[in-house]
Amino acid sequence: MFHAQVLTLFPEFFDSPLACSIPKRAIAAGLVSVEMMQIRDFATDKHRQVDDSPYGGGPGMLMKPEPVVAAIRAARKRQPDTHVVMLTPSGERFTQAKALDWIEKPGVTLLCGRYEGFDERICDYVDEQISMGDYVLSGGEPAALSILDALIRLLPGVLGSPESAVLDSFTEEGILDWPHYTRPACFEGKSVPDVLLSGDHAAIAAWREAEARRRSERRNKTNQKCAE
Ligand code: SAM
Repeated sequence: MFHAQVLTLFPEFFDSPLACSIPKRAIAAGLVSVEMMQIRDFATDKHRQVDDSPYGGGPGMLMKPEPVVAAIRAARKRQPDTHVVMLTPSGERFTQAKALDWIEKPGVTLLCGRYEGFDERICDYVDEQISMGDYVLSGGEPAALSILDALIRLLPGVLGSPESAVLDSFTEEGILDWPHYTRPACFEGKSVPDVLLSGDHAAIAAWREAEARRRSERRNKTNQKCAE
């Protein structure tokens, strides 16, 4: 079983998404466990304070090192081989390759920030820093949820057809899935490509591969332009 742990100030954020569809089935089948750990439980002062104002001034509050590091230590004690990931806009971008790598591990611990983020010293206590992209979320929870979902669907036995995950976009780096069509064969004047109705499996396979490469190249070019 793959063991996921989430360190968060808002465990309730995950209730509904983990209680439906693929994650729900994977948890029920014992293929994955997802444990919430409330960071505030590791604050030792009277007010169970988890945040404080930044040295040097400036707006907002930061997550304090003591409760966060205590929570990380507790997570490592519970799952000694866990891979601890801090969610932060300054981290490395999350990719399908990361997801495929992480599901080979015994489990992951996802550390969710809030406020203006973490005291910088907390970085020394995690294995990896990960970003969902060049935009700012209010907290690490939506990022953790996306990662959990991406990992869970890759675990053996989770998807009805194991082929689905292998054929997904990004399984091969930079390569997207091909375009898909279902009935009706013509919708508002837009027809399904003839080759898909031909019954010629070799021609269909060749068309799919060519289309996947074409849309991947187009997207990669657009992304490159945006990065310039
Ligand atoms: N002041 C920070 C900055 O500008 O980099 C943003 C802090 S954000 C409001 C609060 C928390 O949300 C972060 O500590 C992190 O856990 C999470 N977060 C926000 N954007 C994220 C992203 N793109 N990827 C991963 N986590 C993110």
